[in-house]
Amino acid sequence: MCVVRIARTKAELRAARKALPGTVGLVMTMGALHEGHLSLIHAAEAECDSVVVSIFVNPLQFGPGEDYENYPRDLDADIALLDTTNVKLVFAPQPEVMYPRQPLVRIDPGTIATRFEGKTRPTHFAGVLQVVNKVFNLVRPDYAYFGQKDAQQLALVRTMVADLDMPLVIRSVPIKREASGLALSSRNAYLSENDRIAALALNQALTIGRDAAAHGASPAQVRERALAYLTAADGVKIDYLDLVDPDTFEELPLVDGSDGPAEDSYDAHEEHVWEAEGGAPAYPTRGLLITAAWVGPTRLIDNMEVEFLGA
Ligand code: AMP
Repeated sequence: MCVVRIARTKAELRAARKALPGTVGLVMTMGALHEGHLSLIHAAEAECDSVVVSIFVNPLQFGPGEDYENYPRDLDADIALLDTTNVKLVFAPQPEVMYPRQPLVRIDPGTIATRFEGKTRPTHFAGVLQVVNKVFNLVRPDYAYFGQKDAQQLALVRTMVADLDMPLVIRSVPIKREASGLALSSRNAYLSENDRIAALALNQALTIGRDAAAHGASPAQVRERALAYLTAADGVKIDYLDLVDPDTFEELPLVDGSDGPAEDSYDAHEEHVWEAEGGAPAYPTRGLLITAAWVGPTRLIDNMEVEFLGA
């Protein structure tokens, strides 16, 4: 048990940061903290001498019509939860502190940000990388911890850190799930009782895909089976479900292990179909099965690593 110090301004943060001993780990959050956030904090505590948590609902990463206004905010509950950890410093600024004016210099997140989440939320990742960059500069952590839950965000943060030679190490932390399999998310607070049941289909679809791969299914079959399950699920409207390279978020070639196009390739996604021209793509050893879907009015994301047995 320890008392958490809350810095609300950059000056307060600077002063408190100076007093932190040893290596510093950073966990960035938008608050409404849950066990998923705690697993990031515990990973940081295990590796670093001091841990800083930021709590900031970043307006720049919300598009028009998204849930910025309604996003759950409860700083007192968050601090009470952090009091059960060894976190000594929380940075919880108001938007005016972070953005005294609209920033003129912006981060261009590049092509990864144009796919999947970025297709549905075109300004999202530029807003994420803007705030990540700012908080990195303010906190100057040695390590920063991001959840595998937001896999595309993680890939983009890693890419930014590599491309801009940012002087810190990025760690990823596995997805924390409820016993039901539902990935923990602050947005789960929006789910009705029925929605919570319908939402289980996301994890179930991904699990079906992963298990199929473990039994020798090809990338095409894995994607098809997961997609078929989620398509048939009640109360779920799919935004996307796909099999991608976890670093680039490019779709995996849907090879089927034989020497021709996968029989069950999904017609609506012509670009995925195996192409003989230029030679067959290499049979992948691993991939990331990713999905986003609306359950009632709530948009949820989930993903799962998949390992292929081989052609
Ligand atoms: P958020 O507050 O939703 O912006 O999330 C803050 C950080 O916590 C991000 O790095 C997320 O990926 C991570 N996170 C959120 N939910 C989970 C979860 N269920 N398991 C692991 N990490 C998570």
